[in-house]
Amino acid sequence: MREYERNIRKVEPYVPGEQPQNKVIKLNTNENPYPPSPKVAKALAEMDTDRLRLYPDPACTALTEALADFYHVNPDQVFVGVGSDDVLSMCFLTFFNSKKPIFFPDITYSFYKVWAELYRIPYECQKLDGDFRLVKEDYYKENGGVIFPNPNAPTAIYEELDAVEDIIRANQDVIVIVDEAYVDFAGRSAIELVGRYENLIVVQTFSKARSMAGMRIGYAIASPRLIRYLNDAKYSFNSYTMNQAALICGVEAVKDREYFEEGIHKIVMTREWAKGRFEKLGFRFLESNANFIFATHPEYDAGELFEALKENGIYVRYWGSERIEQYLRITIGTREEMETLFGFLEKYVGRRKTGQC
Ligand SMILES: *Cc1c(COP(=O)(O)O)cnc(C)c1O
Repeated sequence: MREYERNIRKVEPYVPGEQPQNKVIKLNTNENPYPPSPKVAKALAEMDTDRLRLYPDPACTALTEALADFYHVNPDQVFVGVGSDDVLSMCFLTFFNSKKPIFFPDITYSFYKVWAELYRIPYECQKLDGDFRLVKEDYYKENGGVIFPNPNAPTAIYEELDAVEDIIRANQDVIVIVDEAYVDFAGRSAIELVGRYENLIVVQTFSKARSMAGMRIGYAIASPRLIRYLNDAKYSFNSYTMNQAALICGVEAVKDREYFEEGIHKIVMTREWAKGRFEKLGFRFLESNANFIFATHPEYDAGELFEALKENGIYVRYWGSERIEQYLRITIGTREEMETLFGFLEKYVGRRKTGQC
């Protein structure tokens, strides 16, 4: 070890799903298979590039106001960032400064652990139960803050708002973050609780239901007091997080509620149809309320199936980690992409059964 290395911040980074540059069926990072609203394409085509000479609006006023309008909150209750990863990371930095451990589930979005390590925040994972459900009572113990996704990732399980509220209510001396990356495919959002709980932050993203993972937009909705703290942290870091194109396109996407709702409907319909197909092939999966399915097959090894899929140009996500080593997370693609997936799986399952392999 070199001497200077003693004073380097060493972190084990988050490992994102692969982004292959060749054409594959991409069901590995929960992106939306449909393009964003046509209003986004129009706004991009008509964008005044002369405006790029100037710094963008640091307050992100137009986007903040559009989101406030959409969710019926005040603009001072909205914070936007470069994807929800940026927003969540800023939340960890701003709100999790206790010596007591923050709590999150043992099986969840793996970035939480990475940020906790990066910012040197003590943490304690709370075990999901045998059915991969959140045990709300585990979060009633003393802690330095709470974060969990709803629906959870990669399980796809949505907890009803009553259970979410119980956790928030039991933790009013700390900040509770509900990461709702997939809530649009599921049910009621905790945004409706923000007016009642000053300690609650709801984080959402444009990357999934709004089809704009490439634009990097995320946001938090909370009490004006917490949003002020977030902005103070942001302005101590980088005032111009959101680029001009993202601000313009974000506004257009939010305004097109009809396109947004139709897109969600299409994916939910495909998901429900896909559940039947998975069942027929003998897969077992957790009840999904997201745009992906977390599935296992009692007869086939998940790691081998993952490799076989990949060789055939179908990318899904596989971790091989404790408790989920036999599970694959499969994003809901278009109906055609899913047909290709099931075509392959039928051959895979059939071939193995007749011992032709
Ligand atoms: C996708 C995802 C995010 C991050 O999304 P961004 O693209 O950074 O907005 C955050 N949390 C969960 C649980 C996710 O699945």
